Amino acid sequence: MDDSYVSLLVKTKAKDSVAGMNKGRIALPHFAGNRTATLLQTQSGELLLLGDGLNNGSGNSMVKFLQVCLFIAVMTKVNSLSQQFVYQKFSSFYENTEIKSPSAITQREFAFFLLKQRVMVRHKSFVNLSSLNSILCENVPSDVYHSCAYYENPEADMSKKGWLGSDLVFDIDADHIPTSCNKSHDEWTCKQCGLSGNGVTPERCSNCGGQRLDSKTWPCGLCLASAKEETAKLVDMLQNDFGFLDEELGVFFSGHRGYHVHVVSESSKTLDALARKEIVDYITGLGLELCGKGKAPSNRKASSRIFRLHDFGRHIRLRQDLSQFIERATENDLACAGIRSKKAIAAILQYKQQILGRCIEEGLWTSINGVTDETWFKLAEYLTNIESAKIDTVVTTDIHRLIRMDGTLHGKTGLEKVGFPVSRLDAFDPFTEAVAFKDGTAKVFVSNAPEFRLGGKVFGPFRNKTVELPTAAAVLLVCKGRAEVKE
Ligand SMILES: [Zn+2]
Ligand SMILES: [Zn+2]
Repeated sequence: MDDSYVSLLVKTKAKDSVAGMNKGRIALPHFAGNRTATLLQTQSGELLLLGDGLNNGSGNSMVKFLQVCLFIAVMTKVNSLSQQFVYQKFSSFYENTEIKSPSAITQREFAFFLLKQRVMVRHKSFVNLSSLNSILCENVPSDVYHSCAYYENPEADMSKKGWLGSDLVFDIDADHIPTSCNKSHDEWTCKQCGLSGNGVTPERCSNCGGQRLDSKTWPCGLCLASAKEETAKLVDMLQNDFGFLDEELGVFFSGHRGYHVHVVSESSKTLDALARKEIVDYITGLGLELCGKGKAPSNRKASSRIFRLHDFGRHIRLRQDLSQFIERATENDLACAGIRSKKAIAAILQYKQQILGRCIEEGLWTSINGVTDETWFKLAEYLTNIESAKIDTVVTTDIHRLIRMDGTLHGKTGLEKVGFPVSRLDAFDPFTEAVAFKDGTAKVFVSNAPEFRLGGKVFGPFRNKTVELPTAAAVLLVCKGRAEVKE
């Protein structure tokens, strides 16, 4: 064998998954320098990748990279009809769609998950939108991301990028919201022992303790409605408590199970991770101090906590929430809020108007017999939790975060990440406005899918059935691993 050849041997027992692969000459991703390589299978079932000049100048990192490529290719039937179908649809989308540029495009890091090669490529940058567009058309990624951060040198290693600032971003995903419907459409399987269950994927397998769990979720209408409610709470706080202007806020459907809010503002651009954590704590209500510093009346025990609210920030919100809650509260509502004392419940129900006036308006919290500081702490805790927005806290505090690019497709659904004005949050419908494939139909074999609505029509439920569906519905099911293209 010539010295300029690098051979990579990947041992695999997964012979079945190799069966669908295209052996012979294969094209490597463009960042491997538009080279081709030969993929061979030995008699014992091992795979061999022979590449011409693959170690010229690139050294070990290229060898490692190709090993990853090959390993992933082996695990995935790169040439299956279903993948070809999705590839073609995504390809024609990028050929025919004008993508909007993110602000300061030259300062952003870009990343792609490549559909055919099943690898993540990152640390890319572009001088303009048209060069980014041609890469999308050439490589057809299943997912496109850019950094929330601005860098002097976006292609450099993390430590050498030269961080200049970052948008303030929020991610609200139904995965973090316990909805009543998740049991009917979400499943998980432990990769270690095979145990499976319905509903939200646990952190660890209850059988073997393994942390490698496969989850099958669904972009369900009810789940997305809950995510939208959380987004509305977040936007309200960003506008009214933090004072961000409408034009500084971008609201987006993520393309899957949630919403993103991007704040693009000079005032938040250079906030560090700690400052962002403070914002996160405010929004989630973590560590909200309710204890006043006022002097306890002489007849109180020194140890008892005193309930006080001041006149700004979350305390103002809490005051409003308490008013609304007390005004409508039934015996059952109060019990649900955690009030155990029968005396307190009776007093609240009997003296609603006095409580609204003297307690909440005037701050004389314990002026009604039976309604103690502890009653107020319980109610405040309950309402703070309800009124907090369920954001993914890690996303906001990460100042190097990659976020899905506006106007690109989500690889798990074939739906588009779409932005809309804040004022349209209520009216926005992801199942019509994020549909990317508007023409044609496709025949698919659906193994299992719940009833779903897309593009103004309702489909399913399906189980082991061959059906002809509009392209967008077929792409969704194939991307979600619930259907296959058979012919
Ligand atoms: Zn397990
Ligand atoms: Zn749901």
